[in-house]
Amino acid sequence: MCVARQDGNGRSGSVEREAGADVVLGPAEDGASSSALDVLRRVWGYEHFRGDQARIVDTLVGGGDALVLMPTGGGKSLCYQVPSLVREGTGVVVSPLIALMADQVDALEALGVRAGFLNSTQSPAQRRETEAAYLSGELDLLYLAPERLKVPDTARLLDGGTIALFAIDEAHCVSQWGHDFRPDYLALSVLSERWPGVPRVALTATATAETRTEIADRLQLNEALHVVADFDRPNITYRIVAKDNPRAQLLAFLRGEHAGDAGIVYCLSRASVEQTAAYLTDQGIPALPYHAGLDREVRARNQARFLREDGLVMVATIAFGMGIDKPDVRFVAHLDLPKSIEGYYQETGRAGRDGQPSTAWLAYGLADVVQQRRMIESSDGDAAHRRRAAQHLDALLALCETVTCRREQLLAYFGQPGTGACGNCDTCLDPPESWDGTVPAQKLLSTLVRLERRGQRYGAGHHIDILRGNASQRVTRLGHTDVSTFGIGTDLSETEWRGVIRQLLATGLLTVQGEYGTLCLTETSGEVLRGERTVRLRREAPRAARAGGRGGRAAKAPAAELPAPAADLFERLRAWRAATAKEAGVPAYVVFHDATLRAVALASPTTTADLGGISGVGAAKLERYGDGILAAVAAHSG
Ligand code: ADP
Ligand code: ZN
Repeated sequence: MCVARQDGNGRSGSVEREAGADVVLGPAEDGASSSALDVLRRVWGYEHFRGDQARIVDTLVGGGDALVLMPTGGGKSLCYQVPSLVREGTGVVVSPLIALMADQVDALEALGVRAGFLNSTQSPAQRRETEAAYLSGELDLLYLAPERLKVPDTARLLDGGTIALFAIDEAHCVSQWGHDFRPDYLALSVLSERWPGVPRVALTATATAETRTEIADRLQLNEALHVVADFDRPNITYRIVAKDNPRAQLLAFLRGEHAGDAGIVYCLSRASVEQTAAYLTDQGIPALPYHAGLDREVRARNQARFLREDGLVMVATIAFGMGIDKPDVRFVAHLDLPKSIEGYYQETGRAGRDGQPSTAWLAYGLADVVQQRRMIESSDGDAAHRRRAAQHLDALLALCETVTCRREQLLAYFGQPGTGACGNCDTCLDPPESWDGTVPAQKLLSTLVRLERRGQRYGAGHHIDILRGNASQRVTRLGHTDVSTFGIGTDLSETEWRGVIRQLLATGLLTVQGEYGTLCLTETSGEVLRGERTVRLRREAPRAARAGGRGGRAAKAPAAELPAPAADLFERLRAWRAATAKEAGVPAYVVFHDATLRAVALASPTTTADLGGISGVGAAKLERYGDGILAAVAAHSG
């Protein structure tokens, strides 16, 4: 069962340790101080804090520190934005996401919040202007790139104003073991020394216990309130399919389930990013490439278009996406295997921040396992590093091959075991069959034994040729038609054999070595050969079922769940929003989120008061857009 994130005071799935932080303001109805709740309602137009937000906000408002682990889309920003408005002075937000600061500031300004940023993209004049605003107390929030803090001038500047709190966003960047280490983050340990009285909150969506300990140590947050939120993202459907013809599979997935939707397609290499983007564009699906090898300008332009326009597909390496808070990303597709479950969860977490149905889709095959194992083996790191990388990969492969609920496995990995089957992942919606693969495994492994006796090692394809009795040129030339296992595996197709090998590799009953990814026996292979261990395998789905939508709960287009008249109004409101956003030069979601427009479409308000009562319509937006939106509603009904 998926536990939906609770509104209000929900604390399910939370692990906490509280120390130090005394909450001084009395709790109001949902546990947050009344002034914090006031701010939430007035500025954001949201009725309640979600999940753990209230507790975190109270701690910071009361002068305490906090370490917050919340999944992407969980609502981390409000945890420091609200206290920055409640406390005297400016909330200083340290973020590595320089490219996004301008958008974040735009979004805050649209809410009537006074915000600014300081980073290397600005001209000296712009910087001076922001500094002056900070010094004269005119900023509620100031975003800073971490490297700024190393500059003595920055510390002096901060001393010249009043700091309400420090928020350290993407706090896992301080972890040297993590996948996203930024040396500049190490300098953040000065915050507690230099400004001991200023509350600090570190936030991240990367969540293993190890990472958390490292963040707490490095940022001196051992005494802070620790909050580990419920990591479930119930609106995301997880699907992992066996890779066959990945492009065709991707196309079928996009056409069948996400026509017209915005989404991200992740590829491992720059070349495949460009080829895939070109392929989708050829097929009539508007797609843009993004990778570190592209011009800075091109990257910035593609990112801006993805954020601002509706329905674009971004094909990218993992260089893209950190901090992308576009709420209406409807799918995240992986054409190659991510390196770890942390990476997978962070990348897929970029889908559906607005809580609407979304899909995480991954195509995965034998070549992926071979390639990743090879990359680990040939990496520069020391033995401990390689072992760690191999463990990360094993955990991910176990997720790919599981015959039980994927969400349950993911959550267990993040320290939430026993959540039960979710009903919203492929293994729940369409349970895979498993079969006894012991005999085929023995046939394969004994082929390896026989070739090893001759001092020979080969890749998967050659073994399949031998087993299927395919006297290819190479098999003949090498005299492998004489191997006693030649032709004993004709009962399985080539695809099925690839599935067997993939799964043996995933479970460590087989491994690969060397530049060519040759197959090798492992310590556990013998157990299978001697009949001491049975091998259960996941049945490869027949080709037809794999191609596209498999009857699961397909994510719906934004308007799909609305009754007809409201759906029409919703489309009209989206058109109004697109025009308004374009005129203001901001992304559409800065004007209003889909969820808010949907609520407006359903309520069809005729007065400012009615409109102001809708979730997501705060005071500043009501003033700025109220007339426009009421006119759009009136035009629709008139
Ligand atoms: P994160 O930074 O954790 O990825 P965000 O702060 O971007 O998440 O929040 C995700 C979405 O949820 C945003 O669209 C935000 O406006 C919305 N949200 C956050 N808190 C609340 C709340 N208390 N009520 C309603 N919507 C909320
Ligand atoms: Zn499930």
